[in-house]
Amino acid sequence: MSKIIYLDYNSTTPIASEVLDAMMPYFKEKYQNPSSKYQSAMEISVDVENARATIAKLLGAKVPEEILFTGSATESINHAIRGTLKAYPNKKHIITTTVEHPAVLETFKDLERDGYRATYLKVDHNGELSVDDLKQAITKDTILVSIMYTNNETGVVFPIDKLSKITKENNPETFFHTDATQAIGKIPINLYSDEFKHIDFFSMSGHKIYAPKGVGILFIRKGARLRKFITGGHHEFNKRGGTPNVPFIIGLAKAFEHSIDDLKSGKPQKLAVLRDFLETELKKKIPYMYVNGGNAKARVFNTSNVSFDCIEGESILFQLDKLGFCVSSGSACTSGSLEPSHVLRAMQVPLTSAHSSIRISIGRYTKKEDIEMFVDALPKIVKRLREISPFWDKKLNKPNEMAAHYSCPTD
Ligand code: PLP
Repeated sequence: MSKIIYLDYNSTTPIASEVLDAMMPYFKEKYQNPSSKYQSAMEISVDVENARATIAKLLGAKVPEEILFTGSATESINHAIRGTLKAYPNKKHIITTTVEHPAVLETFKDLERDGYRATYLKVDHNGELSVDDLKQAITKDTILVSIMYTNNETGVVFPIDKLSKITKENNPETFFHTDATQAIGKIPINLYSDEFKHIDFFSMSGHKIYAPKGVGILFIRKGARLRKFITGGHHEFNKRGGTPNVPFIIGLAKAFEHSIDDLKSGKPQKLAVLRDFLETELKKKIPYMYVNGGNAKARVFNTSNVSFDCIEGESILFQLDKLGFCVSSGSACTSGSLEPSHVLRAMQVPLTSAHSSIRISIGRYTKKEDIEMFVDALPKIVKRLREISPFWDKKLNKPNEMAAHYSCPTD
């Protein structure tokens, strides 16, 4: 494979070498099933429980049993949402936002087909939610609120402390779940602190923090009741059937330790300097460029969602790919479709620019030179594509009158 410049860390991260090293023995000599009752297997069971205890401590959980190992954030999310509804079958109202990852949105749509009433909270132009809208939406019949912590496309951070608190104040019997997949390793978490104490369920994934794909975590606060989602054997304290994925669990604990140590050292936060450099340089060189979510009160330090009037995101991606740059258009799960991203639509980003959005997300191994090369290449690509765009006035270097027909806000 020719050299690539990877700027798509929100999609997935490379596996850190110390994570791989920690996992290797569990693919080789430590292959026994941790549920088996001989010495070599029981030692592996101890290793799994140590991994659980490490993660519990790093998340500020009270007891390791609050940590459930799953196969992905998508599974954790399904478990939290569907497991709650199964445990309380008489309540039929659920709340989420219009900008969630499909793991939540598609689950809600499926539940609507099963007769649940769903409220989708809207965001404003900055991608922000109104705490008051949530307050108005909660009823006696509301069993679950599911709101993401950090948006995967824009990096906008929701005030999860206020949102979970308002949920409990308005209906103490409503459960609160957050999809924290894009927050881990970027925002310090302590699930028993005042800030987080109203969150009942917390989902995340290994492959966003330099662990492998195919392993996730669901935090279930002690006392919160969930029906089993994956039925089978009595694994995971009888909360999830299926032999645990031992090497990946060991790798996840290692990755978690590293991410939290890093965050404490302030190293990842310094990526904000690179992110700001990227946005400033692009703005200097490209007219009619927008940073989606750029005016939000809080945004994680690694994500830039930018759009350019009058061109297609997919064409930009294709040109960037030819030069070895890996970025996303919209979320990784929707790229491949030419529909503008549901997140940008919800933010009322005009169609002319929503179509051209790309997401640049940086991480542990991103270097200044990578960004320098990127800010050199992208303006040239945008210029070339605009020259052949029917909506671009080449002489005046701005959108032409035809573009106006497409610039109305979308719903
Ligand atoms: N939630 C968010 C916010 C995400 O960004 C992703 C993955 O991109 C997921 C959920 C799904 O994670 P997984 O691939 O582990 O199922």
